[in-house]
Amino acid sequence: MQSKRLAQWLQDHTETLGAAPNKQDSAFHTALYEGIIDVALSGDTRMLDSVVESAAAHAVAVERELTDLLDMHQAVRQRIWDRIGEEIDPEPAFIMLAALDSIFNHATQVTVAAYTTNSRLALAAKSAELSRLYAEAEQKVMRYATEVSRANRELARLEKAKTDFISIAAHELKTPLTLIQGYVNILHDLEEDGSQGKNLTEGIDRGVQRMNSILDDMLDLSAMDLGKLRLVLQPVNLAKMIRLIIVQSEASLQERQQTIAADGLEELPEIQADITRLHQVFRQLVSNAIKYTPNGGHITVSGSAPPNADHITVLVSDTGVGIAPEDQEKIFEKFYRASDSSLHSTGKTKFMGAGPGLGLAIVKGLVTAHGGRVLAESPGFDMQNCPGSTFAVQLPLTAAPPPGVAVQWIGSKKLMESQNSP
Ligand code: ADP
Repeated sequence: MQSKRLAQWLQDHTETLGAAPNKQDSAFHTALYEGIIDVALSGDTRMLDSVVESAAAHAVAVERELTDLLDMHQAVRQRIWDRIGEEIDPEPAFIMLAALDSIFNHATQVTVAAYTTNSRLALAAKSAELSRLYAEAEQKVMRYATEVSRANRELARLEKAKTDFISIAAHELKTPLTLIQGYVNILHDLEEDGSQGKNLTEGIDRGVQRMNSILDDMLDLSAMDLGKLRLVLQPVNLAKMIRLIIVQSEASLQERQQTIAADGLEELPEIQADITRLHQVFRQLVSNAIKYTPNGGHITVSGSAPPNADHITVLVSDTGVGIAPEDQEKIFEKFYRASDSSLHSTGKTKFMGAGPGLGLAIVKGLVTAHGGRVLAESPGFDMQNCPGSTFAVQLPLTAAPPPGVAVQWIGSKKLMESQNSP
């Protein structure tokens, strides 16, 4: 490979052979000339090798193609060839060019080998990094999954503690309350009409009844949560039931100067359901409509049964404060009260007289136990303009309780069938 003449010529012409086409390659070009001169001069390829090897390593690092690198070699070689061909007599030029080509052959081989090795190493490093990231992600996912399942267990434990607490507290309070109710009844009988004492006893009586109804709600809810709900199914005439509820609500309606109308209920078919539980559902919805509608408002209870459908729908609408869209599902959760609780007063029929937030949770539980659905619709909450709310209760013609709800049939075809069956 040694060619003193080539080395001499290159030393003389390095400046005039021209720089690399772009700035980033000019250092490589200069080093390449030096490397070639070194080989031509001494036959020692170490310097050239290290130049092309580091160029290959750099090309891999910046993701430059191997062909790009080899094209650069080719361009340098071509430039030297052309100039030697122009300046030197053919015979010595031939020897110089042969030496030059063997140097470039060597440089190309070393470049390809270095590029391949570096690519392999880079690939190995990349895949090691990928596996590390993958393992890290996997570990993170496992950690989150563990945390989520721990949180879920904790939630279930808290939920159970809450249900147990409601059930125990309601049971424990019920006994002394029944006792108080008994004494209030005795006092009632002893007091004379119109006396101061009679008024006081009536006040206590109302308080006791209110507490009783809250405790009953708590007991109903815990029965639902514990899967101990029981439905007694029989033919139900909804029109009659709503008429009764309207009569029962008369005092509250009068106090709040509100009017109520029933519409289309007479056309509803008889349904097979738990009459006591449905009475509770619609009483709650009407009583909520009274509570969340200002004095002078109007309430409508309407019914519809699409022809050939297997269900009926009853709507309870009011001209009250309405419900914000984000609350329309949440109000069916137990203990949830929509709107600012400071706006609420307490009481069963007073305007905005919120209770403990159990009423709609029970409504939903009872309707669901019948295999039905309930939802609230309202343009939004607005105490000034009162856009109103509508509660839609959809019930199957024959109750279809989900698993976990015990059922007893009375006075119906089903009962006769089951009595007749062996
Ligand atoms: P409570 O009345 O004891 O607070 P409910 O479960 O009956 O509990 O109702 C939950 C919440 O839903 C109420 O606090 C009230 O904000 C909202 N709500 C219920 N019925 C109506 C209605 N007809 N109009 C407007 N808001 C209502």
